[in-house]
Amino acid sequence: MRLLLLALTAVSFFPSWSRGAEPVNVVVTMPVLKDFVEQIGKEHVQVTSLMTGFESEHTYSPKPSALVAVRNARVLFEVGVGLEVWVSQLVRNAGNERLLVVTTSRGIGLLRDHVGAEPVSSGQEAHGPGGNPHVWLDPEGAATMVRHVTEALIKVDASHKAEYRANQAAYLRELDETAAFLVQRLRQAPNRRIVVHHPAWPYFARRFGVQVVGTIQTQPASEPSAHHLQRLITQMRKERIKVIVTEAQLNRKLPDLLAKETGAHVVVLTTMPGALPGTETYLDMLRYNVLQLAQALESP
Ligand SMILES: [Zn+2]
Repeated sequence: MRLLLLALTAVSFFPSWSRGAEPVNVVVTMPVLKDFVEQIGKEHVQVTSLMTGFESEHTYSPKPSALVAVRNARVLFEVGVGLEVWVSQLVRNAGNERLLVVTTSRGIGLLRDHVGAEPVSSGQEAHGPGGNPHVWLDPEGAATMVRHVTEALIKVDASHKAEYRANQAAYLRELDETAAFLVQRLRQAPNRRIVVHHPAWPYFARRFGVQVVGTIQTQPASEPSAHHLQRLITQMRKERIKVIVTEAQLNRKLPDLLAKETGAHVVVLTTMPGALPGTETYLDMLRYNVLQLAQALESP
């Protein structure tokens, strides 16, 4: 606590002299947002991500340093859809009146979770009835989030408006081209039916033509029942499911167990950039996820 107070005092000792030349101080909840803000803001932003990318987005809770970061920031970007339940409390505690809080998923059409081939009934979703929060895994959702980032940066730093707009145009073009290439790539895989560890992939699956036929973990951060696992094994054998998608942030024990029982491959993807080598940016992560999945689907 004493350290925290010292840190807060240190922060207030540096007034915003030479404003305008100073980069905009930005806090984001997750690494994917850090990448978007840096793609648009470039040298005009200084971004701190509260999550590193190695923790599960559903079990994360902010460290004391998060309060200092939020106190010192001009803008905070979150995904929303109930993913970062801890943000409102953190913002309240920080007491930063200048802070602009931006929910980047605003305007994205939400999908429900799916446990099997069909959406689950109301009240059974792993992610709550509001919808699935993993909207950035569809490049089109990412584009909406990037637009929110650009608008917010213009709002707090109008002097670089033209640059932010130009950076957005260039980035969205690259995003489009990458997505188009990857959609084509994955469509070459003949059997695109998968079982997933945690239901993070409905948006990804829709965009890339993948069918999620089962989910190991129907509640985030809780163990499935033995009965659920047995049913999944039976289904995978019957429907000849060859690939189980897990994530770098999750324990491999259950996917490995299912793979052993059914002869399927386990492929480790990530929902957060930076968690695996070769996933440093959002576009790197997208390429990594699609190419790893395509390779696993095509393995004998
Ligand atoms: Zn989730």
